[in-house]
Amino acid sequence: MQIIIIGAGVIGSAIARELSRYNIDIILIEKEPDVADGTSKANSGIIHAGYNADANTLKGSMNVKSNPIYDQLCEDLKVPFKRNGSLVVGFKDEDLKKLKAKKSNGEKNGIKGLEILNREELLAKEPNINKNAKYALYAPSAGIISPYELTIGYADNAVRNGVEVLLNTKVTDLIIENDKVKGVVTNRGNFNADLVINSAGLYSDKIAKMAGDNFEITPRKGEYHLFDKVHGDLVSNTLFPMPTEKSKGILVLPTVHGNLLIGPNANTIDDKDDFSTTSDGLEEVFRGAKKLVPNVPQDGIITSFSGLRASLPSNDFHIDFSKNKKALINLVGIQSPGLSSAPAIADKVAEMVNHYFKINNKKLKLKDDFIETNPSYPHYHRYEEENEVEKWQQIVDENEDYGEVICRCEHVSKGEIIDAIHRPIPATTVDAIKRRTRASSGRCQAGFCGPRILNILSNQLDIDPLEVTKKGKDSKILKAKSKELILKKIKEENNVGDKK
Ligand SMILES: Cc1cc2nc3c(=O)[nH]c(=O)nc-3n(C[C@H](O)[C@H](O)[C@H](O)COP(=O)(O)OP(=O)(O)OC[C@H]3O[C@@H](n4cnc5c(N)ncnc54)[C@H](O)[C@@H]3O)c2cc1C
Repeated sequence: MQIIIIGAGVIGSAIARELSRYNIDIILIEKEPDVADGTSKANSGIIHAGYNADANTLKGSMNVKSNPIYDQLCEDLKVPFKRNGSLVVGFKDEDLKKLKAKKSNGEKNGIKGLEILNREELLAKEPNINKNAKYALYAPSAGIISPYELTIGYADNAVRNGVEVLLNTKVTDLIIENDKVKGVVTNRGNFNADLVINSAGLYSDKIAKMAGDNFEITPRKGEYHLFDKVHGDLVSNTLFPMPTEKSKGILVLPTVHGNLLIGPNANTIDDKDDFSTTSDGLEEVFRGAKKLVPNVPQDGIITSFSGLRASLPSNDFHIDFSKNKKALINLVGIQSPGLSSAPAIADKVAEMVNHYFKINNKKLKLKDDFIETNPSYPHYHRYEEENEVEKWQQIVDENEDYGEVICRCEHVSKGEIIDAIHRPIPATTVDAIKRRTRASSGRCQAGFCGPRILNILSNQLDIDPLEVTKKGKDSKILKAKSKELILKKIKEENNVGDKK
């Protein structure tokens, strides 16, 4: 039995890992050169407590089921995760009523430890918060995670358990025979399947349409500013304003790696590939964040980015079998809290897959040799976070590559970059190295380490430095070898001379 999963974001990768517990062949197909290259790489990285949505909605129930799973999951997959808590902050007396309603919704959803804080209690937790804040809803079970490291952790583990991952492979059509999906057509040939799972994020409506299922995803852009780590302790909880109709508002939060993050705004756009940031949008983000924390430092910004929500008119997740063709499961509209909900979504899809094969007289069997955990790759920054840097010397003694510093801002060694290139999902671009090691994600944004990473990639992948890309396709970093450029210039000058 063969299953094809389209899209290696957090959802497709979580499903691939969950299904790899069974004796089936699984192919995970991704159009980009790496997993986590879509919405799963650019979001707030919050594991929401689950007080927002009604537990009767799919997104509410998936979030609530998933939140408690995260501690063990991240330990198994070796993904950094921290329960830092969240605060929804009210500035007006009438906000108290809304916060109480959220609290009781959360309690109905089974969330423990929710508290309404008054101004003094809030200031004790967050001394930098706007002094005009009056109340807050505190949720201790909310957490922060590195969303791309979670996706890579899932996908790496899936590969360890036998899943085949095809990168740079775009699904262009479904193979349909007698009202049944039999496989996919891609730019790299056709692949047959007994069941196809569509988790193509922003493009899941397009894939569904290939089977005649009608959905319309509208991309909604969210822009962010990321700050240097020296500002990472400006806040310790994730701070939300009172939500609007469209979104949870502009937040101020620490990242799991100790940076400060502000954003996102929410603007509907047309182009699903438009990840640009705008000066108006970034200004809006800054203004919004300052309402919560007035001393957010403008000069501390190291980069800005945006992510696109895959939003459906229903504002809920859609996870169901195709209405038109057999052997297709569509996951559409997996916007926030999709990251928080990934473990429960993967469980739900695994149940649907089991049921599908059962009614087709094929029973799935659990493997005896499923590998639950990923190995721990050495990362110097994790030793720093644990105040155990003296232990790093032991690692350097065994392999001197771990003693050669490549990224000075984030303290990343050559050994860590080589590991990233040889992980089950190999890092083959500069951005893929960044997502696995943090090299180039610091204050200088690749100014120092960029050429060194390029050199290591060229050596390890045995490719010409001119072929190394930032993020695949047409993002080559070097245009030509300088010696060749000089020779070309001399030749041109000589030619001009000849004509004279
Ligand atoms: C601004 C913003 C903030 C958010 N904050 C949070 C948060 O704090 N907490 C939270 O829980 N959720 C949050 N979310 C939501 C969360 O990021 C998403 O729900 C989640 O990342 C969706 O994952 P996915 O796998 O469905 O999509 P994606 O990560 O987009 O993955 C889909 C993949 O399919 C691939 N693909 C598409 N078409 C094809 C094709 N034809 N062939 C092959 N591959 C294809 C794409 O390249 C992509 O890699 C946020 C989202 C945004 C935009």
